[in-house]
Amino acid sequence: MRYITTIILGLMAMQISLDTFCQAPLKNKGVSAAIICLTYDDALPSQLDNVIPQLNALNLKATFFVNSLAGSSNQIGHASPSLVRWKAASIQGHELGNHTLFHPCPERLGWEKEVALEAYDLERLMSEIRTMHSYLDIIMGKKSKRAYAYPCNETSIGGVDYAAVLRELGIISYGRSGGDAHNNISNGKDLDGLKVPSWHVMEGTTGAALIEFVERTIRSNGLGIFQFHDIGGLLFNVSKEAHQDLLNYLSANADRVRVMTFSDAVAEMKQR
Ligand SMILES: [Zn+2]
Repeated sequence: MRYITTIILGLMAMQISLDTFCQAPLKNKGVSAAIICLTYDDALPSQLDNVIPQLNALNLKATFFVNSLAGSSNQIGHASPSLVRWKAASIQGHELGNHTLFHPCPERLGWEKEVALEAYDLERLMSEIRTMHSYLDIIMGKKSKRAYAYPCNETSIGGVDYAAVLRELGIISYGRSGGDAHNNISNGKDLDGLKVPSWHVMEGTTGAALIEFVERTIRSNGLGIFQFHDIGGLLFNVSKEAHQDLLNYLSANADRVRVMTFSDAVAEMKQR
């Protein structure tokens, strides 16, 4: 019996040293400097139906900037399906950020007068941001600070930049603003954490163009942030296929580029 135990222990020790040997090259390899953030705005149904399943299949984590969600169901005794599904997304490790309660945008972008940003003063806008923060506290659990995305990437109200007021609010970790496909961030030290630029991806952008942005980010050893809306839907729509191509590429190139949530990525860039 003792002889058998000795053999088993010996084999276990061999396995441990073999494992250590196999893992050693990975430990010395270091992590890639380049980071990609996948962000999605407006809590659109296509994100629940298409994006989250595609992300989860490859174990990629993303950031969703959400507005007020429908709080009831048309089936007696059932919880609101969108509340249940967004809560599940949060539990799965995706980040849910603040995108105001009712998403006010400038009239020049086609917003109706009554709901446009011009109908707001600073106090009303801050009140919506605070309310959305409490709303997310109730749904996902309390957090002292959350990421914020400016509705329609508009960073001013009444012609005045409100990033400083946002900072004073004390509940916003980092703010995401807009930009184009050339907004790769390589200098984290001088980055304004409340105006982190992203690529507002326009309708019909191909998988190849999305991958080109990833490659540019890798070359810059920096951070690249995608700002998506619908995937397989209507608003600034990118096809499910193009989105899948991007995710497959990110997954296959995990040794060259990391995919992180917005708050984690900006925090890391600020420390560089
Ligand atoms: Zn939005």
